[in-house]
Amino acid sequence: MKNILVTGGAGFIGSNLVKFFVKNYPNYRIINIDNLSYAGNLSNLKEIDNYQNYKFIKEDICNFSEIKKIFVNEKVDSVIHLAAESHVDRSISDPLIFAKTNVLGTLSLLQASKAYWNSNNYGKLFYHVSTDEVYGSLGSEGAFTEKTAYDPHSPYSASKASSDHFVRAFYDTYKLPIVISNCSNNYGPNQHSEKLIPLIINNVINKISIPIYGDGKNIRDWLFIKDHVSAIDLIFHNSEIGKTYNIGGNNEISNNEISKILIQKIDKKLGRSSGESLKLIEYVEDRLGHDKRYAIDNSKIKKELGWKPKYRFEQGIEETIDWYLNKLSLF
Ligand code: NAD
Repeated sequence: MKNILVTGGAGFIGSNLVKFFVKNYPNYRIINIDNLSYAGNLSNLKEIDNYQNYKFIKEDICNFSEIKKIFVNEKVDSVIHLAAESHVDRSISDPLIFAKTNVLGTLSLLQASKAYWNSNNYGKLFYHVSTDEVYGSLGSEGAFTEKTAYDPHSPYSASKASSDHFVRAFYDTYKLPIVISNCSNNYGPNQHSEKLIPLIINNVINKISIPIYGDGKNIRDWLFIKDHVSAIDLIFHNSEIGKTYNIGGNNEISNNEISKILIQKIDKKLGRSSGESLKLIEYVEDRLGHDKRYAIDNSKIKKELGWKPKYRFEQGIEETIDWYLNKLSLF
């Protein structure tokens, strides 16, 4: 039995990952630590409530003395660290909590891992889940590789960049066995309604205005949640210690295109006339420091670990819309 501590397991990516690990690896005990901030929701995990190999602990990752106790009590072998403040807009209005959770919280987990594993690192792993936003913004050409210099622009990406640096520092200084992945924007079931895709879906369904920043031409490289989970699974099991992988699905789409695709699909599913909801789009003042374009060069994870995204955007987004419609009993 391997004891894996997952942090932030009540959030969007964490809940999808925890469910996958609990169901697919009965020989692992998954201990989910989450402080149930506004972004955490235990109903995301209802279907595994009764699994014997799953345990939830409500705790703040910054609470170092309690985190140390959890490592001892649960005999933690590996960590998959996802807990974070994750919304760029919130980081612009309140950067302090981002530094606290994303930087100090990560440091608290690193220290606890180092203390508990001591020098007996055999079979241990600290997996840090991070973002492509640490690389900054691209012009119209090129893509982020694992060698792209860090150049974060928002308080969110600055806090994630800082946490990545601390994770690498623990590898360089103490030989803590770590691995990091930097992933592009995810979408799919369980995502908080403040994020772009759920926000558009909710607003189209409820016929309320859809705010789009600036000219709507900002581009992100969208990845369906199941493809992110499969990449984390591969990296967790097969990566060499100390490595970094970029994860992205080669789905570069602008905010304008996203809103049009969603409107067209949802209008059709709800029996509305084609494009009826286009009038809901409202261009609003741009986000401060808004990065223009992100794109991922995913050749390293493909070549070294054989990972391949399975979902084209059109497929993943169908599944996502249906999930929301089902949840609202509109389907
Ligand atoms: P989320 O906001 O949906 O979930 C974060 C979870 O962390 C929540 O359940 C929240 O309650 C918990 N949490 C927050 N502060 C905590 C604390 N102090 N102690 C314990 N738990 C705490 O975020 P997400 O979108 O699922 O992202 C998860 C991770 O993946 C983050 O580290 C994020 O930076 C990274 N990431 C996200 C994306 C994306 O597109 N969503 C892309 C790349 C990387």
